[in-house]
Amino acid sequence: MRTIIEPFRIKMTEALPITTRSEREVLLARAFNNVFLLDADHVTIDLLTDSGTGAMSDRQWAALMLGDESYAGSRSWRRFEQTVREITGFKHIFPTHQGRAAERILAATRLKKGNVVPNNGHFDTTRANIEYVGAIATDLPSTEARDLHSEKRFKGNMDLDGLARAIGVEGAANIPFCMITVTNNTGGGQPVSMENIRRVKELLKIYNIPLMIDACRFAENAFFIKECEQGFADRSLLEIAREMFSLADGATMSAKKDGLANIGGFLACNNDSWADDFRNLLILTEGFPTYGGLAGRDLEAISVGLMEALEIDYQRYRHATVEYLASALIARGIPIVRPAGGHAIFIDAAAFCPHLRASDYPGIGLVNALYLEGGVRAVELGSVMFGKPAPEGGEEIATPHELVRLAFPRRVYTQSHFDYLIEVLDVVWRERASIEAYRITEQAPFLRHFTAHYERADV
Ligand SMILES: *Cc1c(COP(=O)(O)O)cnc(C)c1O
Repeated sequence: MRTIIEPFRIKMTEALPITTRSEREVLLARAFNNVFLLDADHVTIDLLTDSGTGAMSDRQWAALMLGDESYAGSRSWRRFEQTVREITGFKHIFPTHQGRAAERILAATRLKKGNVVPNNGHFDTTRANIEYVGAIATDLPSTEARDLHSEKRFKGNMDLDGLARAIGVEGAANIPFCMITVTNNTGGGQPVSMENIRRVKELLKIYNIPLMIDACRFAENAFFIKECEQGFADRSLLEIAREMFSLADGATMSAKKDGLANIGGFLACNNDSWADDFRNLLILTEGFPTYGGLAGRDLEAISVGLMEALEIDYQRYRHATVEYLASALIARGIPIVRPAGGHAIFIDAAAFCPHLRASDYPGIGLVNALYLEGGVRAVELGSVMFGKPAPEGGEEIATPHELVRLAFPRRVYTQSHFDYLIEVLDVVWRERASIEAYRITEQAPFLRHFTAHYERADV
């Protein structure tokens, strides 16, 4: 059959809020034109993030009931440890309440002021945790990643020449570890090839620099490797995941992504002395090592979820939903980052709104138009999120790209929801000349996109 169906049926429903355009106008104005300040109850299709927003399966809900809430040595911990070890092969595994807690423990125990951590693309919490201890987070995306529209497949790869140069300049002693993020979230959810991970590892090995995988979307990355990289077509996703992890010395993970859970994460490594440091800080800030920051029932749900994420039918369907939306937008000439990544579609808002300058925040204009037209919530990744506020009256420093992200929660929306979204985008695209400019009227000194207030402005 040509049609790739949702490989599940629905046993429990959750009503979607349906609002009228005039209601949305009032609601958005009341939220100071910032969709982060809307109540979720007023959003019909919520594509703000794929993090923690997925639907659990009946097997996960059943597993919750098996949660052993013993403080130490619980059965649920054993199951969690066994599952994570089966997938990753790592010797030491520490449960954390989410990904950033794993990053915090890693950064606080391994880094000193002035150290450098290279990555194909640091996620914002990873960067923040590294910078918080005074170290430097360096992004080394592949050169292909800079061209938003080239159809190259493994655009999430790390720039190997850049890595060699960074080691040359900094000296291996100043790089306590290197990271590789699969898929590369900051670079649009673009996958990383097995060959790239292997070559990164080979280079690091010469200098004795450990490699940590930011594994949030390890299963989506494994699917891309199976589909697109030579020699992997006949391998299972579990085998591919194991091979990826076998090239690394440890990993950080947010179970809110490919753990198919609403909360959770882990930190893992092979090195015994690292593990001692991790354990000591874990006990101080997260909890006893057999539950970390989680309840026994969470450990159960994550154990099931991690394995479900590696089911081929699930990944085929997930990939098909992203492709379905991408091909519909491409057919209409709507400018998106290509090829589509694993968990989101990124619209090029600068190309969508050529009548707006970066200082008009075209991403905010487009996000707000999508909400007003159809109650769809997307997120700006442009000059508001990444731009720097003006230093004393000067022009704001814009970012190279003005993007709007439509992130896909896992197993939540069906094809008709995507058809609705396409219809909304159709109208907004047709009427794009009327997308408005916005100015910031209030902002915080950092991470301003979460709480900023905007007003409409004349172009
Ligand atoms: C979400 C994410 C994190 C952080 O995980 P949280 O669970 O949100 O703390 C780290 N790295 C990447 C690539 C992510 O997508």
